[in-house]
Amino acid sequence: MNIVMLGKPGSGKGTVGSLLSNQLQIPHVSSGELFRSYVKKAGEIGKKIDEYISVGNLVPDELAIKLVEKRLLEKDCINGVILDGFPRTRNQAIELDRFLKKQNQKVDIAIELNLSDKEIIDRIIKREVCTNKECREIYNLEFKPPRKQGICDKCGSKLEKRDDDNVETVEKRLENYYATSAKLTDYYKSQQLLYTVRLNLHSGKTSEDAAKDIKKYIEKK
Ligand code: ADP
Ligand code: ZN
Repeated sequence: MNIVMLGKPGSGKGTVGSLLSNQLQIPHVSSGELFRSYVKKAGEIGKKIDEYISVGNLVPDELAIKLVEKRLLEKDCINGVILDGFPRTRNQAIELDRFLKKQNQKVDIAIELNLSDKEIIDRIIKREVCTNKECREIYNLEFKPPRKQGICDKCGSKLEKRDDDNVETVEKRLENYYATSAKLTDYYKSQQLLYTVRLNLHSGKTSEDAAKDIKKYIEKK
């Protein structure tokens, strides 16, 4: 089964994606994580990617598609994947369909996580991520703080803030989201693949609730 996760930056795609990945036993592939891993390696591709990510712009389609497809060809993705952050444009969605078709697969469901912009900004500014590549657990200093400050509950590694998690970049990322998202949700809506979940941090509809809700929906389908 192939699931794509749509939604604003910081809407919980990563958290919900990794919960679903555990429950459904399908790997969770985050395009943002993938791109940041290239940046950390500091090669030519990483340098190019950083020019976009660091200011909150989208990586050009051609490069994004190439790197994600390369990742999807790895063995662990053979029975499907939970894609988080990809596709982000209609063009990427079309290319993904084309790619999956070649392996006799398709997108089975597109999940959109919905959260207000104010909540998004609150959430991103207070976000911290585990530095351990194998873990990458996501925390929020207000809504999901680690038991011990700066340390991952799961693996004991240090937590860090992402370089692009600041107010200026978030605003740019939201702007880019609005520029591309309607075309993308329409693309999946017209194929009856779109399922929208509304989160509300303050009233307590959390990523855990969203993952449960989605799992039920998938089981019913
Ligand atoms: P967020 O959802 O919080 O913005 P991600 O980790 O999904 O975080 O993405 C971080 C950055 O990586 C984005 O701002 C963008 O620059 C780049 N990126 C991720 N996925 C894509 C994609 N599918 N196409 C183009 N750029 C992407
Ligand atoms: Zn960890």
